[in-house]
Amino acid sequence: MTRCPVCEKGTLHTKKIEEKLFGVSLGEFPAQVCSSCKESFADAETTQKVEAAAKKKGIWGLGVKTKITRTGNSLAIRSPKKIADFLKLREGEEAYVHPESGKLIIDAK
Ligand SMILES: [Zn+2]
Repeated sequence: MTRCPVCEKGTLHTKKIEEKLFGVSLGEFPAQVCSSCKESFADAETTQKVEAAAKKKGIWGLGVKTKITRTGNSLAIRSPKKIADFLKLREGEEAYVHPESGKLIIDAK
């Protein structure tokens, strides 16, 4: 039995878990899951498969750094084209912007 390196209480068991990226399901992959804290660990091979699944769905690399710029009294945050396309954002449409746990949430739905 392998002890969990995170909580050091539970033991690790092989399970199939659903991997997600940006809220999009990539399918089920094998992982070692802790019986106590539920933390999951994937091996290098599985990590590569998850990455390949994300690339196939065209969502790999959607998270990027962007510069905050000034526009009048406001600050503007640029959305790269691939994120805009993924979220189907269009110029002129309204978005609801609010803070949440230190993050800026842009709700364009
Ligand atoms: Zn644990």
